[in-house]
Amino acid sequence: MNALLAIALIAVLGLCALLWWRLGAALQRADYVQSKLEEARYALAHKAARLEMLRAQTQSLADILFDPLLIFNVRTTPYTLLTLNAAAAQVFKIDPQAAQGRTVMQVTRHHEIDALVEALADGREQPEAQIMIEDNTFRMRGGQISAAGESFVVIVLQDITELLRLARARRDMVANFSHDLRTPLSSIKLLIESLQMNLGRNPERDRKLLAKLAGEADSLQHMTQELIDLSMIESGRAIMRLVPVRALEVIESAFKLMETQFDQKRLRATYSVPPDLWILADADQIRRVLTNLLHNAVKFTPAEGSITCTACAVGESAQIEVTDTGIGIPPHERTRIFERFYQVDSARTGGGGSANRGGTGLGLAISKHIVEAHGGKIWAEAGLPPTGARLCFCVPLAEPPNTPQPTAEDAAFS
Ligand code: ATP
Ligand code: MG
Repeated sequence: MNALLAIALIAVLGLCALLWWRLGAALQRADYVQSKLEEARYALAHKAARLEMLRAQTQSLADILFDPLLIFNVRTTPYTLLTLNAAAAQVFKIDPQAAQGRTVMQVTRHHEIDALVEALADGREQPEAQIMIEDNTFRMRGGQISAAGESFVVIVLQDITELLRLARARRDMVANFSHDLRTPLSSIKLLIESLQMNLGRNPERDRKLLAKLAGEADSLQHMTQELIDLSMIESGRAIMRLVPVRALEVIESAFKLMETQFDQKRLRATYSVPPDLWILADADQIRRVLTNLLHNAVKFTPAEGSITCTACAVGESAQIEVTDTGIGIPPHERTRIFERFYQVDSARTGGGGSANRGGTGLGLAISKHIVEAHGGKIWAEAGLPPTGARLCFCVPLAEPPNTPQPTAEDAAFS
């Protein structure tokens, strides 16, 4: 009996020892796994901290740039955004914080950018490309860089919309100007030839030819003067002397200058301006804006139409409007007419090229510069229904001076 008990006790003790040994081994393994996990967690946290530091550094550098810049982490797929600068956030209308960790398509919604990132991540050389984002054209290029043990693709965009527009404007300007110069020049040549052939035979005819010659020379002079003025104004060499001026006097003098042209087309030209409306302006320059607007109104209004000019105070500004009953300006052209050389479809004016009644398309560009130099703005609206145009501009109001001001006529003859 005792022997049996002893055997059972030894067996139980043996089992306990075995269990103890297995438990110890399991605990050891668990310790090992835990330390490995700890190591991995530490490595991950360390990597995340390094990435965050890299992101913060590149972010502040990238934010200095005017051009949109995006950096994608391409170590693992899907490629995700590390950072983008403020310009890129604006172009892609995305919150920089929310964009972090998003895929290329989620950030840019642009297949061409996605394809470029893909190609650069694969180590393929990619040429510069042009893409359209909404209405703007961007030049795009990218490259791959390695930092903090990771691989990144950097994409830079450059908005070239304005550059392309200027290049087009320069091309148009050369084309328009040479075309506009050619027409009066060939007329002058023809007129001189016919004068040379028959000079003195018919004095009446000679006088008419000479008058035509003078007209063509005038239009050449007008064109070159406009170009000179525009370049003076654009380069800031035209000095504006802003002083309190009575709006009525400037408008009155502009109407006086245009009298013959109104009469030639039997146009009813009227103005209504409060006598106590004073503006802070360079009278000569504002008169120039007004004559440009009145000149256009005459040009684009059929005979016996009417032209009205009104002025009134609106807030801190005086708003001056020239309204006609002419052919009007289509709504989609109303901002473009202020661009240099821009003319609305010359066919509708009854001719082509300089048949836009001798115009060069510079009058409103000059007027815009002048008005803006006064701190004002200029715009076009619909005129008198059913057709017609209304050109409006505003300039700052002024307090009437205490001392008597020279009249507009004085200024005109000074
Ligand atoms: P320039 O003034 O240089 O002699 P232009 O009159 O053609 O030439 P802008 O005064 O700049 O040039 O006008 C640009 C264009 O805007 C005109 O060619 C015309 O198509 C349009 N426009 C301007 N004013 C009117 C108006 N009152 N009615 C209709 N169209 C107008
Ligand atoms: Mg004009």
